[in-house]
Amino acid sequence: MLSAEPPRSADSATPEQQGSNIITEPSLTKSSPARSREGAGCAPALAEDAPGHFEEAPALAEDAPGHFEEAPALAEAVCEAAAPAMRSGTARDHEQAFPPLLDQAITALITVLPLLLLGVAAWQAWNRELRFEDVVIFAAMYVPVGLGVTVGFHRLLTHRSFETRPWLRGLFAILGTMAIEGPVIEWVTTHRKHHAFSDRPGDPHSPHGRGDGVKGALRGLLHAHVGWLFARGDRSEHARYARDLLADPIIMFVNDTFVVWSLLGLAIPFLLGLLIGGTVDAGLTGLLWGGAVRMFLLHHVTYSINSLCHYFGRRRYATRDQSRNLAWLAPLSLGEAWHNNHHAFPTSAFHGMRRAELDISGLVILALERVGAVWDVKRISDDRRAKKALASG
Ligand SMILES: [Zn+2]
Ligand SMILES: [Zn+2]
Repeated sequence: MLSAEPPRSADSATPEQQGSNIITEPSLTKSSPARSREGAGCAPALAEDAPGHFEEAPALAEDAPGHFEEAPALAEAVCEAAAPAMRSGTARDHEQAFPPLLDQAITALITVLPLLLLGVAAWQAWNRELRFEDVVIFAAMYVPVGLGVTVGFHRLLTHRSFETRPWLRGLFAILGTMAIEGPVIEWVTTHRKHHAFSDRPGDPHSPHGRGDGVKGALRGLLHAHVGWLFARGDRSEHARYARDLLADPIIMFVNDTFVVWSLLGLAIPFLLGLLIGGTVDAGLTGLLWGGAVRMFLLHHVTYSINSLCHYFGRRRYATRDQSRNLAWLAPLSLGEAWHNNHHAFPTSAFHGMRRAELDISGLVILALERVGAVWDVKRISDDRRAKKALASG
């Protein structure tokens, strides 16, 4: 197995050779006249508008000095992305897509229906009616849509761990939307909030703090897995946590046309089945595997990052939360299960941090960087990694 990140040693390249994308020092921890000039309307505005990343800093300085250096780095990443919006003032609040009850009903349907259809698929597999083409259609949907979530929604749009052209940003957002995990701005808002309050009051989906003993643990895990979906925060938080995306016309377009892309994500496997098999029946089987089963698996792998990866697994880096690396989930989660690595260094484009840590999303970013499709890929210096490493890790 390969890690996406090529091995580097601290002395193998000078900072100049490594490029400016390696974050070595928390620049916002020191007051810099140059930075406050550059960031005029950025840092102060973010303190107000992206509190998830900024209000935490003073508290972190006192409570968790080890983590403090990450907060400014994350803030800086959001700052870069948010600055034009702050200046132009084009960000607008986004209205709630559906009334709360309807929203909950749709969430229930999207959560339960694939489970029922999974039963049909299992029955089909059991009866040896599963064809090779259906497995191909499943994989052909799972990988690109999964990458839409991991590379697009998460590493690009939430953490700004690399830069790319608008069309590729739009494509990743569309692919991620096909996962039907909510509109892109909702997803990013929830996830930025998760990083801001990880495993503390305010975290939308922590498995901790739900009582003692086995009962409390199970209650916490269930809440972190799917329970939180039914108690999502109101959308006024979009302006606080995702102001940069509200000012991005491409992302706003994909966000507002969420239903179109969701349905397209179901139409494609149906059409693939129809094309390959030549019958409506083959199309429906394609829809079952490339639509329902793919959706079910991707949903629960994503939810497992929220639940299992804050409960089971190994901790290598000192973080102020309970994030963990869960190796067996890494292949299916396309690298997202190196979750302790991620919480330690949220802006890193690579979650696998050792050669043996398979990070498919990181490999994709690396390949895109090689062909010049993405740039400013954020890497973490060996020095910063060593500073945060736990003795037991
Ligand atoms: Zn987490
Ligand atoms: Zn994250």
